[in-house]
Amino acid sequence: MAASPKLPPFDPADPLGIDDLLDPEDLAVRDTVRDWAADRVLPHVADWYEKGELPGVRELARELGAIGALGMSLQGYGCAGASAVQYGLACLELEAADSGIRSLVSVQGSLAMYAIHRFGSEEQKQAWLPRMASGEVIGCFGLTEPDHGSDPAGMRTHAKRDAGGDWVLNGRKMWITNGSVAGVAVVWARTEDGIRGFVVPAGTPGFSAPEIRHKWSLRASVTSELVLDDVRLPADAVLPEAAGLRGPLSCLTHARYGIVWGAMGAARSCFEAAVEYAKSREQFGRPIGGFQLTQAKLADMAVELHKGILLAHHLGRRMDAGRLRPEQVSFGKLNNVREAIDICRTARTILGANGISLEYPVMRHATNLESVLTYEGTVEMHQLVLGKALTGIDAFR
Ligand SMILES: Cc1cc2nc3c(=O)[nH]c(=O)nc-3n(C[C@H](O)[C@H](O)[C@H](O)COP(=O)(O)OP(=O)(O)OC[C@H]3O[C@@H](n4cnc5c(N)ncnc54)[C@H](O)[C@@H]3O)c2cc1C
Repeated sequence: MAASPKLPPFDPADPLGIDDLLDPEDLAVRDTVRDWAADRVLPHVADWYEKGELPGVRELARELGAIGALGMSLQGYGCAGASAVQYGLACLELEAADSGIRSLVSVQGSLAMYAIHRFGSEEQKQAWLPRMASGEVIGCFGLTEPDHGSDPAGMRTHAKRDAGGDWVLNGRKMWITNGSVAGVAVVWARTEDGIRGFVVPAGTPGFSAPEIRHKWSLRASVTSELVLDDVRLPADAVLPEAAGLRGPLSCLTHARYGIVWGAMGAARSCFEAAVEYAKSREQFGRPIGGFQLTQAKLADMAVELHKGILLAHHLGRRMDAGRLRPEQVSFGKLNNVREAIDICRTARTILGANGISLEYPVMRHATNLESVLTYEGTVEMHQLVLGKALTGIDAFR
């Protein structure tokens, strides 16, 4: 009888052997970001979360710049030029620490920098991107308004040209990540020619970014309003290559791609906490991980976690091959954030009362994911995107 081939051992951290898909460079990127988060975020994040602040955000941004995590998959202008898979791995590791840190990086790289990189003039790129890649300048992205979230086409913020050719912006943006700490804002506004993007330096008279307090989610993240009162900008402040909503929507597709990975980081952190707890916590004279009901929960969590990571890899490879469609990103965001929340909630039940304590990461991740479920397109918006793609019928209105 022929000897059966020797199988690799089962790895509880990678039960499907997904790491086989990674090359040494991918692993090095992952380790660098994981080590940075373990050193600079994990020891402090529960405290930041409890206080509802992100102290030292400028220093954190510089450090993230130094490890190449800002605008990571963009080419040139001081950016790392990493693959989409590597950028995704970084998002996963950052969100395993906290969704707030991943949000800082996503908004910087996938929204603010991506908008300038893809739609900006050469002068705009030279002026902003190297300083944003290094973390010297933090960026934000203002699309959502108090009365227009899922439906940004209705935005009221407007930009008018005056006789001298300057632009004058008026309006208000809401729920803007990084707003109060940003040195530059990419602001989307209605013009005579449709929706256009503007590069607004934070010190411009009439521009302010009051912080939004009292959040019970993404507490270790800066979220702000943007107020634009007769903000006067030179003619060349407009992003020349972005016309209409397609501009901001393509930035959102890029950022959502990072969330597909990131959400699985939050889920992994909760899953690991649940496994550890289940092995050490004893009730009825044995570890709770020895009860079949707990094992069923852990098995189901592992299945969804690693399916989600596999899906993220698949989308990453499509993005690297230039074949990733926005509908596929909607598919990934819809599934992975929804499943991540479910994994975190199940982990919470395994930890019992300790599940609500900040001593463990579970409740923090679960409440963070409530924001991740809503921003960059709500569950319902991604269902409608997929529903339209599947039926050919637009059900948005
Ligand atoms: C912490 C945080 C950070 C954020 N950061 C940013 C940022 O940096 N930049 C930025 O521009 N925005 C940001 N946002 C805003 C975010 O993108 C919006 O909250 C999101 O687009 C949803 O808009 P809304 O909250 O106004 O909800 P609404 O659009 O009012 O939706 C409310 C509910 O109605 C549902 N709904 C709406 N229309 C339909 C429909 N046609 N069919 C079925 N259901 C529908 C929605 O799915 C949702 O469940 C952030 C939000 C949060 C919470």
